[in-house]
Amino acid sequence: MSYLKGLRCRECGREYPKQALYVCEYCFGSLEAVYDYDGIKKILTREKIIKGPKSLWRYRELLPIDGNPSAGFYSGFTPLVKADILARELGVRELYVKDDSVCHPTWSFKDRVVAVALSRARELGFDTVACASTGNLANSVAANAAWAGFKRYIFIPANLEKAKIIGTLVYLPNLIAVNGNYDDVNRLCAEIAAKYRWGFVNINLRAYYAEGSKTFGFEIAEQLGWRAPQHIVAPAASGSLITKIWKALKEFEKLGLLESKVETKIHCAQPEGCSPISTAIQTGAEVIRPVKPSTIAKSLAIGNPADGYYAKDVVQASGGSAGIVSDEEIREGIKLLARTEGIFTETAGGVTVAAAKKLIREGKLPKEESIVLAITGSGLKTQEAIQDSVGQAAEIEANLAAFEDKVMKKNPVAAGR
Ligand SMILES: *Cc1c(COP(=O)(O)O)cnc(C)c1O
Ligand SMILES: [Zn+2]
Repeated sequence: MSYLKGLRCRECGREYPKQALYVCEYCFGSLEAVYDYDGIKKILTREKIIKGPKSLWRYRELLPIDGNPSAGFYSGFTPLVKADILARELGVRELYVKDDSVCHPTWSFKDRVVAVALSRARELGFDTVACASTGNLANSVAANAAWAGFKRYIFIPANLEKAKIIGTLVYLPNLIAVNGNYDDVNRLCAEIAAKYRWGFVNINLRAYYAEGSKTFGFEIAEQLGWRAPQHIVAPAASGSLITKIWKALKEFEKLGLLESKVETKIHCAQPEGCSPISTAIQTGAEVIRPVKPSTIAKSLAIGNPADGYYAKDVVQASGGSAGIVSDEEIREGIKLLARTEGIFTETAGGVTVAAAKKLIREGKLPKEESIVLAITGSGLKTQEAIQDSVGQAAEIEANLAAFEDKVMKKNPVAAGR
């Protein structure tokens, strides 16, 4: 049973059939999935969701496929960690970490969007899938396409972290490293997508792909006991995740699945070296000015964000704010989350933690209100970013005297840490 009615232009409202389409042919606006909410309301209850699979497919009725899913069976349903130690350190009362650093199978929230995109790609008859990626999407498309049996072409900027390159190559895709930044890669892919009949997950399948991000928001609300938190801090690259977290909460509200109205403020976190959305929000500018990225947060290095305006609108409509943090603050953010909650996140997560710290100091995240931090990827993929700032192992000979001499005598504090 499908509740997906079609696609609709987000700008002019024109409707389109549910095919692989890139943009509105009249105004070049981006397209969005449209659902039969009346039909969904009749069958989707909390009880049905709770009894569903322990994956993002528990929200299947609100995802844009016609039949059964065919990828990402184990993706999503990641922990919502009550972060009391970090809360104490930051001086706030109720803090949670939504931890997609452990999302299956490639340790980032991109496994959510790819689960949906590849399921739809199969329904639309593609035998080849492709993507333009800042790293995590490359890992996830490569892994899921290997499993689902698609041919796969992955395009990345050549300067990505080693783990993101090896963590893509291991799945035997055609990996193309482009000399340029993500925006150059994306432009090239738009040209390729116009010529080859491939399912580009974030180009001609983008309307479907993007909906996968809603499950991050659905899970937060469900795991909080069918309640929307007062604040969510999320990192932005294209800005899509931010818009979809908001859409998720609004859909749950519309379907009567929440305890109370959504009064969540959405806060946008970006790195200093690539902050087009956060800068526009902070300065009150109408226009989002594209930038040339230069940041250790490579997963967020999109200088010309496709969903920038929509993300800015969501932040402003919700009463949220924006944070901008330096590379050094990102490193400190990564280490702070590791030291307090035992969670090793990648640079994007460091951006979220560091931005939250700043926004708490500025009073934009009030100390008495509930806050969720969106931790979107794993630190094992971006070790370069912190390798020079985490200290070193004490190297010793294999005997007790050496241990006592080099560790216990020399550095009893470190030993007991
Ligand atoms: C892609 C990505 C983001 C940002 O996603 P958008 O939807 O493009 O804003 C955030 N964190 C990580 C780890 C990512 O890989
Ligand atoms: Zn249009």
